[in-house]
Amino acid sequence: NGEEEEKIDYVYKVVVIGDSAVGKSQILSRFTKNEFCFDSKSTIGVEFQTRTVSINSKLIKAQIWDTAGQERYRAVTSAYYRGALGAMLVYDITKRQTFDHVARWVEELRAHADSSIVIMLIGNKSDLVDQRAVPIEDAIEFAENQGLFFSETSALSGDNVDTAFLKLLDEIYSAVS
Ligand code: GDP
Ligand code: MG
Repeated sequence: NGEEEEKIDYVYKVVVIGDSAVGKSQILSRFTKNEFCFDSKSTIGVEFQTRTVSINSKLIKAQIWDTAGQERYRAVTSAYYRGALGAMLVYDITKRQTFDHVARWVEELRAHADSSIVIMLIGNKSDLVDQRAVPIEDAIEFAENQGLFFSETSALSGDNVDTAFLKLLDEIYSAVS
């Protein structure tokens, strides 16, 4: 592990936020371990996981933070956001309320995170299309108005999870180098 550490060019902190049960922890485990856990317990304690990727021949370690089940509005502390270069803001495409709360999460980011933070809006559970409650057009419009990147993902099937994280990391790389 020590040897691997020495080759790392940059470490990027990324936070995952959004309402409870939208799939934040599953998206994280899909990206870092390529796993989906069917009997996962809710997250206990602030935790991060890492995955190292190569961008422009640089080794970039993404250090991705998951909330400690503190998803209530304003319960996430500013320490969680400190130093974050990117944010995955997740809602559930089958639960309209989780999308209606996205604006509050953006406010939280604007209040606590660095103003240059790169934000990716994620509509998760795209495998449940027959239960869709959030039209993709609504999300695209919101993302455009707020200057966010946007993707729909499925942590269950893995669809678009890597693509979304790699896009976020690529945008951070462009912003900081
Ligand atoms: P968190 O509270 O935001 O961390 O949400 P979790 O990752 O714990 O997931 C909440 C629930 O949604 C769990 O029952 C997961 O199995 C389920 N889930 C997460 N992602 C997906 C997905 O992409 N598709 C489906 N169908 N279920 C998902
Ligand atoms: Mg969780």
